[in-house]
Amino acid sequence: MQMSKNLSPASFPSLDKALKHFFGYDDFRLNQRQVIEAVLQNRDVLVVMPTGGGKSLCYQLPALLKMGVMVVVSPLIALMQDQVEALQDNGIGATFLNSSLTPGEVRSRQAALLDGRVKLLYVAPERLLSEAFLPFLQQLRDKIGLSAFAIDEAHCVSEWGHDFRPEYRQLHNLRRGYPNIPILALTATATERVRQDIIQQLSLREPTVYVASFNRQNLYYEVQPKVKQAYGQLLRTIKPLEGSGIIYCLSRRRVDELAFRLQQDGISALPYHAGLTDQERTQNQTRFIRDDVRVMIATIAFGMGIDKPDVRFVIHYDLPRNLESYYQESGRAGRDGESAHCAIFFGYGDVATVEYLINQKTDPQEQRIARQQLRQMIDYAESTVCRRKIQLSYFGEDFPGHCNTCDNCLNPPPVEDWTIEAQKFLSCVARCRERFGMNHIIDVLRGSRKQKIIRLGHDKLSTYGIGKDKNAEQWRMLGRSLLHQGLVEETLDGYSVLKLNAVSWQVLRKQLAVKVAISERLKGQSPPAEEGAGEMSAAATLLLGRLRSLRKRLADEQSIPPYIVFPEASLRSMAQRRPQTLDAFSLISGVGNRKLSQYGQIFIHEIQSFCQEHGLSAMTELVAGDGTRSRSKTALTNTHFVTLKLYQQGLTPAEIAAERDLRLGTITDHLARLLEAAHPIDLNRLVSSERQQTIRQAIDKVGPVSLRTIRDYLGETYDYNEIRLVRAIWEQDKQ
Ligand code: ADP
Ligand code: ZN
Repeated sequence: MQMSKNLSPASFPSLDKALKHFFGYDDFRLNQRQVIEAVLQNRDVLVVMPTGGGKSLCYQLPALLKMGVMVVVSPLIALMQDQVEALQDNGIGATFLNSSLTPGEVRSRQAALLDGRVKLLYVAPERLLSEAFLPFLQQLRDKIGLSAFAIDEAHCVSEWGHDFRPEYRQLHNLRRGYPNIPILALTATATERVRQDIIQQLSLREPTVYVASFNRQNLYYEVQPKVKQAYGQLLRTIKPLEGSGIIYCLSRRRVDELAFRLQQDGISALPYHAGLTDQERTQNQTRFIRDDVRVMIATIAFGMGIDKPDVRFVIHYDLPRNLESYYQESGRAGRDGESAHCAIFFGYGDVATVEYLINQKTDPQEQRIARQQLRQMIDYAESTVCRRKIQLSYFGEDFPGHCNTCDNCLNPPPVEDWTIEAQKFLSCVARCRERFGMNHIIDVLRGSRKQKIIRLGHDKLSTYGIGKDKNAEQWRMLGRSLLHQGLVEETLDGYSVLKLNAVSWQVLRKQLAVKVAISERLKGQSPPAEEGAGEMSAAATLLLGRLRSLRKRLADEQSIPPYIVFPEASLRSMAQRRPQTLDAFSLISGVGNRKLSQYGQIFIHEIQSFCQEHGLSAMTELVAGDGTRSRSKTALTNTHFVTLKLYQQGLTPAEIAAERDLRLGTITDHLARLLEAAHPIDLNRLVSSERQQTIRQAIDKVGPVSLRTIRDYLGETYDYNEIRLVRAIWEQDKQ
């Protein structure tokens, strides 16, 4: 039966049933139903939805309900494969044709298509329009019928988009060759210009255009001022987070370094950048998608080709290039609709690097654009208003703010009067004769003993050391704020020398008060703990862990990514509701008919054994856990690793201390911390086993808390350094 063109939406009362039957979902997401109805009415449609909005379903469900084959044009082989696997796992006839197949495989797939066993055909644009393929496509149309062309990533037809692909340009021939087949174009790119281009390039006929909001409600956005020891900050940030994540850096070197250090700290992490071979990249990517490795450290090259819906955090360790790319990159988190965490580490050192790179550009127009984009990025990072409001206004959406899921909404930074500090800062700029940059000014204010300061005689200035009450980060925050408010200027010749202007003098003459929004996080607090996951009861959390392991095992057996077995939301709901019959199990969101028969029994069995072990029934809850998380000890930083490296080269603590120009006590403390973090430090190299023995006995006796008590107990012949080291091991053993 061919659907007639003028059926009203009311003619599809069973869309909900079809959704549950094939995909296991209970409700449509925003706009999905309207799009599907329009496609069923054979209209041309343009769908603009953010990543994770659920675009695929907009053509997959109609494909199942309409006569003939839906031809899906998709640019990336890896994506095609993922989608086809996911569909097949739902028992849906889907296949792809691309250059990765042997001629034999192509023939058998074509035969299956001509047999009417396939509802969705994924194909790359260059193949679809190749001379060799056209006869097959015509045969398919005549024998089985084509229900529609779905053009995924449709912005690739536009030179104005961020990912123009010349092969997409050929798609305008589709309309000419197949004038009666409806076209459905889908994209996550929001600009009006690209939209118009898509409509024109694909010759869409009176298309219905659906533009969903770009607000990704499940994402938490934050910006953390990047501290000097940013690696420790990174560890602190990801330690409490659950699940998989991506960390973006600007350079390959940084990627490799972070991957190495995270591995050292027991976090499973792999690098991804253009310096790796194709094979290494594919391998690392597959391991990430299959949950064999938790964290991907990547340059921006990573992410375009992956479709992992359960990424739980995306951290930009370095400044993103611009707001649009930040939106897209952070948007790779939480495509499954579950909550996810997006953070930027924002440091002025990075700004300087980007500025330097911009200054290298030769085209003045390019420079201007890049500068403007950088400015927008900085404004976003420094802003004290709702982060969503800024992002969405960039896409032309008027969002009222107060989203309650960004750092600024949860924790509005207080505004303080920093007039006196501003006067100190500006008069220091004046005393330094407006010939130095921010770092130097801060050094003078803080009374630094740096060579440069002494040489210039700046330790004799009246402003020398008058700013010791604030740390360098705080002064920098003030300096930036002054720049932003136009209360001081900075030269743009690449040297960033600070200059006073007329308004600076008003401040100095006490004619103008200076207000600064104080970021709480600058006071050295750790980022807010994750919400969402904390709401589960202790039992549900335990069960969730078991269900995840089961999912992983089933996925590995079939060589598919775990999320294809069940998405995270389904596991969560199972863990909370503990269904123990097939009927109850079928009510879980994400459980369609096929999944029910394929996995129902085995999951129910796991849930039953869990309930027996814990004396639980379905839907009852254990007493909820107190929800508190144990704070991890402050993380190791670069300095610890420098010590580790010297230790590994065979130096004694005293030699390391001499080499690094640090006190022996400091080095001992480093080694003890490394021991506590289970790094391979051989205590026997540092303290004789006899002395270890005695110290251990002393700690057993008087407890580990006070080094002084232990020392008093042992007597003068023992020193604090050896006690500190043995105590570290003693504590390790107790854990
Ligand atoms: P997009 O292509 O727009 O980035 P996808 O089509 O990949 O998004 O969908 C994102 C995720 O949302 C997928 O895991 C998909 O299974 C899930 N999803 C889509 N529609 C629904 C729905 N109606 N209910 C629940 N989950 C859905
Ligand atoms: Zn907000």
